[in-house]
Amino acid sequence: LSMNSVFRKTDLTDVFFSVKTTGAFHSSRLSLLLNTWVMFVKDQTYFFTDKEDPDLNRKLNGHLINTQCQSGHTRSALCCKMAVEYDVFMESQKRWFCHVDDDTYVNVPKLLEMLQNYNHTDDWYIGKPSMGHPLEIEEKDHIGHKIAFWFATGGAGFCISRGLALKMLPHAGGGRLNRACEKIRLPDDCTVGYIIGHILKTKLTVIQAFHSHLEGLQLLNPLDFRNQVTFSYSTYGSRMNVVNVKGFDKTEDPTSLKMFFLLTLRWFCHVDDDTYV
Ligand code: UDP
Ligand code: MN
Repeated sequence: LSMNSVFRKTDLTDVFFSVKTTGAFHSSRLSLLLNTWVMFVKDQTYFFTDKEDPDLNRKLNGHLINTQCQSGHTRSALCCKMAVEYDVFMESQKRWFCHVDDDTYVNVPKLLEMLQNYNHTDDWYIGKPSMGHPLEIEEKDHIGHKIAFWFATGGAGFCISRGLALKMLPHAGGGRLNRACEKIRLPDDCTVGYIIGHILKTKLTVIQAFHSHLEGLQLLNPLDFRNQVTFSYSTYGSRMNVVNVKGFDKTEDPTSLKMFFLLTLRWFCHVDDDTYV
């Protein structure tokens, strides 16, 4: 068997990490990611933005992709980026497409452990919905006819196997994802759920260990942190939503990402207290 055999156990080089970002967040949010979880997976992580930034692109070894999409938190701008993310993943030879926002911490070793439970040649859509029920909509060209499907919240991160991504090609490839977004008039993550759940009839595999800042992150038990796959944060004004745990400096590390990086090293890298990493 060759090293590229489909039977080889999935390792980190098989995962394509896709981070959605925007010009305004290059220095604030991205530097936090680069100094934490991205260190583990720099060679297979790509950043999808809307602005040229040669210095940052050099730092990322050419992995900053200017999607030429508009900036702004609009449906069309965000769908446009997701469409490029999908296309660049398809060009890569990776087994898994894992999308996250730029305010997400990925517990990389735990994510890998999770993916190893699934076969990348089968159809897998893995993540967590933020609603307790499927999304119900009327398609533009079928008024009066309701359809319902689950979608994984983009802000919590989600992963798609190459097997499933290949089946999405006629509906998502070459910018067709944009058309799907316009057809159902919903954001990118909903549209991914629409293509997978409604068109391809593949079920979302719900993993509770994905967390967006739409959840009350204070509710997470610190004893369980190491088993979580993703966390996100929001620090808007007084409505801070970050995990609640003693031992991190809220002034120096308001997002808690630096603390999680140190914890990840401790959990998975068997670092002794007196070892410099
Ligand atoms: N984003 C973007 N363009 C914008 C604003 C945000 O591409 O003009 C991206 C941002 O980098 C992040 C995602 O969209 O990856 C969600 O943005 P944010 O976290 O600011 O808002 P949320 O939707 O989580 O409230
Ligand atoms: Mn966010």
